[in-house]
Amino acid sequence: MFHALVAVKQVPDTTNIRIDPETGNLIRQGVPTILNPYDAHALAAAVEWKERLGGRITVLSMGPMSAISSVRECIELGADRGIIASARQFSGADTLATSYVLAEMIKRIHEKDPISVLLFGKQAIDGDTAQVGPGVSIRLGFPLITYAVKIHEINLKEKTLVAERKSEQYNEVIQVPLPCGITCEKEIASIPYASLPNLVHSLKYEPEVWTAEQPIAFPPDQIGIKGSPTTVFKTTQPELHTAGEVINTADTGVAPAVKTAIEKIEAAGILDMPEGCA
Ligand SMILES: Cc1cc2nc3c(=O)[nH]c(=O)nc-3n(C[C@H](O)[C@H](O)[C@H](O)COP(=O)(O)OP(=O)(O)OC[C@H]3O[C@@H](n4cnc5c(N)ncnc54)[C@H](O)[C@@H]3O)c2cc1C
Repeated sequence: MFHALVAVKQVPDTTNIRIDPETGNLIRQGVPTILNPYDAHALAAAVEWKERLGGRITVLSMGPMSAISSVRECIELGADRGIIASARQFSGADTLATSYVLAEMIKRIHEKDPISVLLFGKQAIDGDTAQVGPGVSIRLGFPLITYAVKIHEINLKEKTLVAERKSEQYNEVIQVPLPCGITCEKEIASIPYASLPNLVHSLKYEPEVWTAEQPIAFPPDQIGIKGSPTTVFKTTQPELHTAGEVINTADTGVAPAVKTAIEKIEAAGILDMPEGCA
């Protein structure tokens, strides 16, 4: 039977992100959170394939208890089971510790309810590392297709999946054996409208909460901040560049337009202009 597991992260709505000028850290208080957009598209792909093949979808998220709202959103869109890894000990995780926790949880789920496909967003819009999908897949020994734009075929009998992935110059169509991992671009599937029964079900849905001790007793030195060798020293915003000014030769003719451009360059002090140039 088809069983898709989708890893979803709750992220700050980055259009609202502000940085504390004193500390250089992200200001998270009062910032609205959303389901990572790439993860919503990964889930949409799982829902499309569940409609074709039957089966079920599990979503998994590591994060604070507020992640419940993102898991409920996934139930609304067509997931069947939601699990949250939430405990103080998980906090401060880098991608190494995050992928370790998710992989251990997926192993446990897979033992009881074998997984056909693991889906991830191509990246989380806050951390942006795009490392968690590959990190989890390699720990599980699953083949991985990154930057997938389309799943062409899932053959449960032959245990194969064919997907198309984007590379810089061309798209590649790849076949891998199941179970496999996929990291998804937004083109993979459009986000469906929630059906009324799913909407009602999601309002009352209580995801399972797994802690650092139950049902898996995680070694404290491999999770959260203790299991994370990465240190983010400072977060800064890149300088915003304004759009350049266009001097239209059609309005003034070429020579006056060039003269205006040179005057502006000179006034901005960008270049030392040779005498007689202006
Ligand atoms: C500004 C900033 C910079 C950071 N830089 C680094 C860094 O350089 N190195 C580092 O190791 N960590 C870094 N982190 C920490 C990083 O956010 C966490 O490790 C995070 O838990 C996972 O990394 P990511 O957000 O980059 O996810 P990505 O690897 O970009 O996420 C890819 C996909 O993995 C899945 N996924 C990711 N996180 C979760 C989760 N918690 N639960 C379920 N599914 C998930 C989702 O499907 C997601 O779309 C940074 C955090 C911030 C805020």
